[in-house]
Amino acid sequence: MTTSTTTWRQKLAAVLEWSPVDKGQIPLLMLVPIMGQYALWGYLVLQRPDREQLVNVAPLEQLVILTLLFIGGGIVLMLLGLLLRRVRPDSLLFQHLAIQYYAAVLVFMGYQVGLTGMATGLVLLGAPVFGFIVMDRRAVWLGTAVALALFFGLGLATVHGHLPYAPILAPAADATARQFHFYSLIGFSAPHFIFIILLADQTLNFWRRREDTIRTLSRTDTLTGIPNRRSIMEMLEKEVARTKRHGPPMCVVILDLDHFKKVNDTYGHPTGDLVLREAARVLRESIRSCDAIGRYGGEEFMLVLPDTDAEGAAVLLERCRAALATTIIRAETGKTFHISASFGVVCNQKDMAVDVATLIKAADDALYLAKQNGRNRVEIAA
Ligand code: GH3
Ligand code: MG
Ligand code: MG
Repeated sequence: MTTSTTTWRQKLAAVLEWSPVDKGQIPLLMLVPIMGQYALWGYLVLQRPDREQLVNVAPLEQLVILTLLFIGGGIVLMLLGLLLRRVRPDSLLFQHLAIQYYAAVLVFMGYQVGLTGMATGLVLLGAPVFGFIVMDRRAVWLGTAVALALFFGLGLATVHGHLPYAPILAPAADATARQFHFYSLIGFSAPHFIFIILLADQTLNFWRRREDTIRTLSRTDTLTGIPNRRSIMEMLEKEVARTKRHGPPMCVVILDLDHFKKVNDTYGHPTGDLVLREAARVLRESIRSCDAIGRYGGEEFMLVLPDTDAEGAAVLLERCRAALATTIIRAETGKTFHISASFGVVCNQKDMAVDVATLIKAADDALYLAKQNGRNRVEIAA
């Protein structure tokens, strides 16, 4: 029960990822039940003994029939959509058709109860705003243009006396008729209001969550799950900017796994990948929560240590080095082996004006020295 509800709601919320044809069903799914509501309203009003005081009976009788035809048209279009979703799910033509139908029918219905009423206003503003989030832009622009042309065409014909204003509503003679008009117009507006607000809320919420996921993914290294190069470089830049305002110390570390090519050559690439994941995990667990780690290159990692002087860095990095060196890796073949890494460190103790490139160059030089001096060791730049 819960899972099917979730997937159903998730699917609905993921409306941004629907195919163009499925998106084209949205205006029809709104239109058909709303037309049903209008037809029912008309039918019920026509049953009332005081109907002559409330509505113009003959035009309303015609309108009820027209409304049923509009429902039929909507259903035919929906069936066409169901057919197209199999053969041409990317068809934009269907979206165009559905939007035009929705716009034309609703402006016509708006004319029946007064073009300047709330229901027409809600559709004219709400539908394009929601449409722009979800649908093809051009289809929405075209639908809006058609709706506005109809709106002004019918509106001008009304004000110049060629057509009656709100032809189905009788002029309100007493309080009962005024109340009837008021509640009817609220009833006409309510479904548009609810549909558009709820759909926009769900869709924008889905959009926000998707954006969060994409932002996280764009900052994460897929293999190891730690920040990627772009992300750790940003952290370094932020830390350097911070030291420019608040002063050092801080340290930057570049570390490189030793003889990693041999791991790949001996145990295969998948085991090499496993080593990278294990190294990232061990390092992440060995640093403090305020320190940052990222994958800097193939088998190179960068650490940014805020508020850390050379002695502090030496203690921390010795811990990292020992943790890596004692990690046991089990290859795909079942054989176990050890890994190690060399660390190049630069500590900025007092220079307020240091820049990122200088720090990286110094850390790189220290790393080179660590390799030269026998690997599996920490070298701190002088
Ligand atoms: P050194 O001790 O001097 O650092 O020796 P090394 O073999 O580690 O040095 P080198 O930098 O020449 O080799 C790095 C190797 O890392 C080369 C490349 O095939 C491997 N590598 C880079 N990225 C990945 C990866 O994502 N997965 C795997 N399995 N291997 C990678
Ligand atoms: Mg390397
Ligand atoms: Mg290496």
